[in-house]
Amino acid sequence: MIKKLSRWFSASARILPWREDPSPYRVWISEIMLQQTQVITVVPYFEKFITRFPTVESLASADLSEVLANWSGLGYYSRARNIHRAAGLVVAGGFPRDRAGWEELPGVGPYTAGAILSIAYHMPEAIVDGNVERVLSRMHRLKSRDKNKIWSLSRGLLGEAARLKVDPSVLNQGLMELGARVCKPKNPLCDVCPARSDCQAFAKGDVEKFPVKKPRVKSVDVQERTTAFVTKDFKVLVTLDESARWRKGLWDLPLEVKSSQNVYASKKDPKLQVKYVVTKHKVSRVISLKYFTHNAKNSSNQMMKANSDSRWIRLDEAITLPHGASLRKSLKVLSDAIQPQRCRS
Ligand code: SF4
Repeated sequence: MIKKLSRWFSASARILPWREDPSPYRVWISEIMLQQTQVITVVPYFEKFITRFPTVESLASADLSEVLANWSGLGYYSRARNIHRAAGLVVAGGFPRDRAGWEELPGVGPYTAGAILSIAYHMPEAIVDGNVERVLSRMHRLKSRDKNKIWSLSRGLLGEAARLKVDPSVLNQGLMELGARVCKPKNPLCDVCPARSDCQAFAKGDVEKFPVKKPRVKSVDVQERTTAFVTKDFKVLVTLDESARWRKGLWDLPLEVKSSQNVYASKKDPKLQVKYVVTKHKVSRVISLKYFTHNAKNSSNQMMKANSDSRWIRLDEAITLPHGASLRKSLKVLSDAIQPQRCRS
């Protein structure tokens, strides 16, 4: 199976930007981007990111806000924050050359460490991601999702590959590629699969039963209230919100806070609704729309004075700040709702 897989991968691997020059830096960035994100989505983000930050030094010396801006749209922003922190550590100590060293870097787990070491350094380090797990579960008709078992199978393949003189980079990428393009979650293409003759589920005709189902992760409902302060010159107040883990370093509308100064939204202010999902959180947001007749620049109102954690920005420019789904969806409903004649004191 390993020889067939390696021939198949060498002949039909997709041309991807991080494969053209699989340096530790590029493989690392691509693997972090590929966590929870599909290849087709990652390609343009990777190219833009590498153009702006071509080396680990350029990444480490950049402001976090710029790193987040270049990550904007990929989601799971903790990945970008981790990459930025890790870049500083790499510049100080060099790229790690073993699994333990990589796993010490923020955001790098056992899969990512194995992928970087095998792809960039050609070291016999195992990997298990969703694609590899699916392939191995089907090939061995595994009755459980025991991670230790899957890792052990993945390591076993590396031992066999060494005996056959197959590069660990080719084996690991071949497994991932097979899972992504042939051994797909639904309707796997068994007829063209290079591993078919060694696949127990194919032989038994029950491929769709594997991998066995995981228990569902329960989603958490979250309610939040925000206020959209909008000026006469169509600027909106945004803040750097640190109140929830998934928002750190991202701009958003200010979460609603009660104030005796009566500058925050009142019951009479129009209400807009937004729903968005972040990891397991299903968030329902109510936006109170508060208009100001003055403009942001000339106002003496304390509310209008932006500080380092807040700023007034044109509605159509706010999307250029590092943001998540919460601000993106909020700006969309705000733009639809706001009309000049509705501005009032
Ligand atoms: S034969 Fe089918 S189920 Fe088995 S590894 Fe290949 S694609 Fe997956």
